[in-house]
Amino acid sequence: MYDILPVLGSGLVICGALLLAMAIGPVWTLFRQLPIGGLRYSWGFLILLILFFIAGYVVYAKFSLVKAYQPLDLVVPIIFFCGAIFVFVVCSLSLKTTSDIMQLYALKQENITDSLMGIFNRRYLDRRLKEETQRAQSYSKPLSIFMIDIDHFKIINDNYGHQIGDLVLKNIAQNIKESLRESDVLARYGGEEFVVILPRTQISTSYKLAERLRQVVENTQLPLPEEPGIDMLSIGVTVSVGVAGLTSECKDYLCLIKNADRALYQAKQNGRNQVVMG
Ligand code: GH3
Ligand code: MG
Ligand code: MG
Repeated sequence: MYDILPVLGSGLVICGALLLAMAIGPVWTLFRQLPIGGLRYSWGFLILLILFFIAGYVVYAKFSLVKAYQPLDLVVPIIFFCGAIFVFVVCSLSLKTTSDIMQLYALKQENITDSLMGIFNRRYLDRRLKEETQRAQSYSKPLSIFMIDIDHFKIINDNYGHQIGDLVLKNIAQNIKESLRESDVLARYGGEEFVVILPRTQISTSYKLAERLRQVVENTQLPLPEEPGIDMLSIGVTVSVGVAGLTSECKDYLCLIKNADRALYQAKQNGRNQVVMG
């Protein structure tokens, strides 16, 4: 009557080994997606461990076939089988969870990024500026912003067309981004206007940073694609900047924007390509 038990036990262990082999699939996918580094090595080590377990299962299944079985002896093959189910489920869930999180992250990034310039969009700017203003007020820290507008941008559109205009906008955005600090937040405010949030920065420091940024833009030639009718290889633009900071009179984000806008207007009135402090 107990003749069937060794076959049943070995069968369970072999099924377990097959499940373990199937668990390598998702782990391998994760392994390949990860950049070279500690986490990738950890998943690689897990693959080696699973291979080791598969070998162990096969050897156990082979020896258990020749063993005299009592019903209670089935406990170990059952535990082996359940262990393999556990490993398979954990590995598959890890892959599924990771790809879901990556999808969510990509969606979130899409939601807060300006598709033309590759920097933060207005929606993100409004939210972040409110948060930074509240944080600065709560911890009595300084906060300032720049409002940047490209000078005579209409002329670029008129002379080279909107496609080249778009390209110039994209290049300027990257140019500005590279000249800012890691902690500064650059966003498209609208059209060819940008706002930079400078957390924990006094307005006097911001003025110096804005002046440096203005000079970087002025001294940079933006490459143009080779096209019939366009004989220039690059184009230079300038920007005007309005700087504003939180003060005892200007306590909220609306006031910050208003003051920066007013300073920008003044910079335009004064002849452009300059920074004015609001
Ligand atoms: P000013 O020095 O006074 O700022 O002169 P301006 O010509 O730059 O004037 P203004 O800032 O009022 O005009 C902005 C122009 O930017 C008008 C609009 O056609 C152009 N523009 C706004 N958004 C885009 C865009 O996404 N792509 C392109 N190609 N042009 C844009
Ligand atoms: Mg302009
Ligand atoms: Mg404008």
